[in-house]
Order: sequence, then structure tokens, then C-alpha cells
Amino acid sequence: MGKIRFIKTESSKAKPDQKKLGFGRYFTDHMFVMNYDEGQGWHDPRIIPYGPFELEPSAMVFHYAQEVFEGLKAYRRADGGIQLFRPIENIRRMNRSCERLSIPVIDEDIFMEALLELVRIEQDWIPSEPDTSLYIRPFVIATEPHVGVHASKSYIFSIITCPVGAYYPEGLNPVKIYVESRDVRAVRGGTGAAKTGGNYAASLRAGETAEKAGFSQVLWLDGIERKYIEEVGSMNVLFKIDGEIVTPPLGGSILPGITRDSCLHILRHWGLPVSERPLAVDELFEAAENGKLEEAFGSGTAAVISPIGTIVYGDKTEIIGGGKIGPLSAKLYDYLTGIQWGRIEDPFNWTVRVV
Ligand SMILES: *Cc1c(COP(=O)(O)O)cnc(C)c1O
Repeated sequence: MGKIRFIKTESSKAKPDQKKLGFGRYFTDHMFVMNYDEGQGWHDPRIIPYGPFELEPSAMVFHYAQEVFEGLKAYRRADGGIQLFRPIENIRRMNRSCERLSIPVIDEDIFMEALLELVRIEQDWIPSEPDTSLYIRPFVIATEPHVGVHASKSYIFSIITCPVGAYYPEGLNPVKIYVESRDVRAVRGGTGAAKTGGNYAASLRAGETAEKAGFSQVLWLDGIERKYIEEVGSMNVLFKIDGEIVTPPLGGSILPGITRDSCLHILRHWGLPVSERPLAVDELFEAAENGKLEEAFGSGTAAVISPIGTIVYGDKTEIIGGGKIGPLSAKLYDYLTGIQWGRIEDPFNWTVRVV
């Protein structure tokens, strides 16, 4: 496998204004790249100036979407230190996605080393304004020039990074969502549990339709019975119903979110009742009508926690918690982001110091 080579850029870019970062618009000076070729395995890990790839039009990723990705963040602590949040979980999840997409898995140690080394090299890009961070995007694409359906014999594994602001610059305002009844994002046996671009491509139409109608996300139902709640937009979803936190179980069609897992861990640590069980949309609306739906929120690395204030299903509309963020959602957000940015002690050993 060998050590990571480093080729430094000759022209550092100007850093964007930390107050106007937005999300995913600026990319740093360097990127990590490693190649896979049949017979050779993964080889030539290197950190090089950020720039375009040269690919043949016949590269298989363009035709058969053989691709996986990940998303995590590097956080700047108040003491100037830099840390990652549960990066080993991203590494392992990406390898599980690789297995599902017939992509050769990546050695965990070289992956971790690549993350740490790239973040160390790009550390001046990590913003320090409140709620800002360095978003890290590892991904693998199939590069073999071949129009023919089989697994590619060559791949690129790359990691790019971008300084980002809060996902919702206006703050934690509850969003309006509706229950999607036409499209589904995944089915059991499909690729729903893998972080792969195809799932996103399949979800775009519903997302666009929702936006045009004034909603920020859709609530996805299962693809078989169109009855059970799965996810919200590209986040996992949690509800507080009559004192209990309920979230759909990981049954193969749901992405096993690291934020979801962290929320459940913290809630159990606090001694609160947590249930991972199928939740029918009818049960959810019945609970809402009876005043038992206390809180609802999405969870994911980008937004951390995204409270849901209004939920629409056909001709029914329910306002949750008066359309305001619930006390438990707010407490969870403060606690989780407290650990991530190093403002509070990390009792679970989740953070990994980079510097
Ligand atoms: C990435 C992702 C999530 C959230 O996962 P985290 O590890 O919490 O960021 C949820 N759903 C989908 C579809 C995703 O792609």
C-alpha cells in the first residue's frame, strides 16, 4: 500500500468569507486520490492539488452509476484543536456500501490515515465561526472504459473537503414536509442502506416537486406497502410519541445514519425510552390528532438535527409542537454539537483529535 505521497499546490486559493460559506460551494487546495486496478489492488495513495479528473466517456460510473460516497466533518474546537466525529463509522459504512455495489473495499488504516493527513494539510481552511466546519466527502467511482454491464476493473477513491456554514443559516427553524405517495427512494433488497448516488438520483424528482409546492423535504414511505415511514429527505427521522422516541428500524432500505445512532445512544444514556420499530404513517397521524406527537426531527451529519414543524399527508395537515423546535430536540442538538465542537466532554469516546 505504501505511504501517502504529497504534492503541494503552487497556487493556494483565497479563503472564502467565513460568514458566507453556505454548504458545499468552496473546495480546498488539495484532495486525496488512490487508484484501484485489477491485479494490483488499491495503490498509489497521494494528496495532490484539487483539480479535475480525466476520465473516458466510456468510464463505467457514467453509465451504470457504480459509485459510493460518505460525508463527515472536521470541527475546530475553541482551544484551536481540530477533531473528527466517529470517523471509523464512516470508513466501515463506506466499505459496506462498496460491498453492495461490487466495489473492492478499502483498507481501514489507509482510509483513516488519508482522512487525518488531508485534514491536517488543509487545517487553515477549517473555519472558526459558530456552527461552521470542514465537510469531508470521500467517494469511489468506477473508471474502467467499458460499455458493458459488469463490475468495473478500475476505480478512483478520492476525498475532497469544503469549508461549510450551518446547513440552515437561519437557525433551527422547523421545516414543512409532506408524505411522498408517488416515488419511493429504496426497497428492501435494493441499495437503500448503501450511500450511493443512485439513491439520490431517484429521490430528486420528489424533492423538486416538494420544493415547488413550498415544502423543504419529503417523508418517504416504504416501497412495498407504502405504509411505513422510512426517512425524511436525505436524513433519518425520529419522533417523540407519548413520551417515547420512535424511529424506523434498519431493515435494509434505510441508511444507517451515524447521527441517528448517536442520537439513540445519547437518548438511552439519558434513560429515555427509545424504540426502533416500524411506524405506520396512519399511526403517526393518529398520534398527532390525539395530541401525542410531541416532537419530530430529521438527523444527519450536514444539518445534525432538523426539527419538523408541519407535516402534510394527502388532505391532512398536522402542526407539531406549535411549529416550534421541541425541548428534547433542542437539548439533543446542543449536546451532540457540544461534543462535536468540543464544547463539552465526550463521555463516549467518539471524537478523534487531528491536531
Ligand atoms: C447520509 C445519509 C443519512 C445520514 O447519515 P449520517 O451518518 O447521520 O450523516 C441519512 N439518510 C440518507 C439517505 C443518507 O444518505
